[in-house]
Amino acid sequence: KVKESGKNDCLLYSESWSNSSLERLTLQHEMYRAIQRNEFILHYQPQYDLDSGAMVGVEALVRWNHPLRGMIPPGSFIPLAEESGMIVQIGDWVLEEACRQNKAWQDAGLPPIPVSVNLSIRQFVQNDDLASKVSAVLQKTGLEAKYLDLEITESMTMDVGHVSRCLLALTDLGVNISVDDFGTGYSSFHYLKNFPIDRLKIDRSFVRDIQQDPSDAEIVAAIIAMAHNLNIQVIAEGVENEEQMAFLRKHNCDEMQGYFWSPPVTSANIEEMLAPGAA
Ligand code: C2E
Ligand code: MG
Ligand code: MG
Ligand code: MG
Repeated sequence: KVKESGKNDCLLYSESWSNSSLERLTLQHEMYRAIQRNEFILHYQPQYDLDSGAMVGVEALVRWNHPLRGMIPPGSFIPLAEESGMIVQIGDWVLEEACRQNKAWQDAGLPPIPVSVNLSIRQFVQNDDLASKVSAVLQKTGLEAKYLDLEITESMTMDVGHVSRCLLALTDLGVNISVDDFGTGYSSFHYLKNFPIDRLKIDRSFVRDIQQDPSDAEIVAAIIAMAHNLNIQVIAEGVENEEQMAFLRKHNCDEMQGYFWSPPVTSANIEEMLAPGAA
């Protein structure tokens, strides 16, 4: 059975891969080398304010520029990296590279915006002190904490007390915390109640059918209203057309991210988009 990742694709992490331990080992080994060989690369997807239309942030999304297989999307290797624990090393690299790049944009005179970095739950578990690590990366790259946003996803297998302490320490640093893929996990409300959350990201599976499915429309409207009552900002993921954007605007959603305004692009593209006078 193909692993249901719920993401874009499962090019490598498919039936054949998951059934062949040799293939999996090969990929894991290649992944290990990939860190040393600098084969990972970050693309960035802009996030926009729904009122002003201004670009107010970017999300860093990792890709694997494999020498033989070409550009591999995260859905095809993150699950394996999570399983093997390699996600911790990859995640460390992503964090530092995203902070370094964001500081470089600022140093180039571009308007400062936060960069969002996806965290795997394993990064909380395997680092006994994630906040110290993040603090060290901020120090090393010179990025101010307020320009870093960390995205966490819901997971069944986590120690709520430990994660909650980590998140509080991160909040103390001044880093922003977002809940990713909100609504798809196993206890979304638990997160809101127990964790210091600044923003939630409505999963694109709810946004997709906003116009056709009245219950999705109700759910999205309710999530926005509830979040605002809790003083939490809301960004909608996967916005692909004008109608979805109009709906979100009407219901006072704060921000949006999606192909309608921009897919993930290279750092050079972001630079152009941020440059003064850019449309
Ligand atoms: P995510 O964090 O929910 O990221 C959003 C994904 O949705 C991205 O896929 C993005 O390209 C895609 N997307 C954005 N707008 C649209 C749209 O309008 N329509 C559709 N159909 N898709 C849209 P991507 O880049 O393939 O990343 C997939 C997932 O891989 C991410 O989902 C995230 O969970 C994971 N991921 C990516 N980079 C990292 C990383 O550095 N660390 C960890 N732990 N996970 C990562
Ligand atoms: Mg994300
Ligand atoms: Mg997401
Ligand atoms: Mg998603």
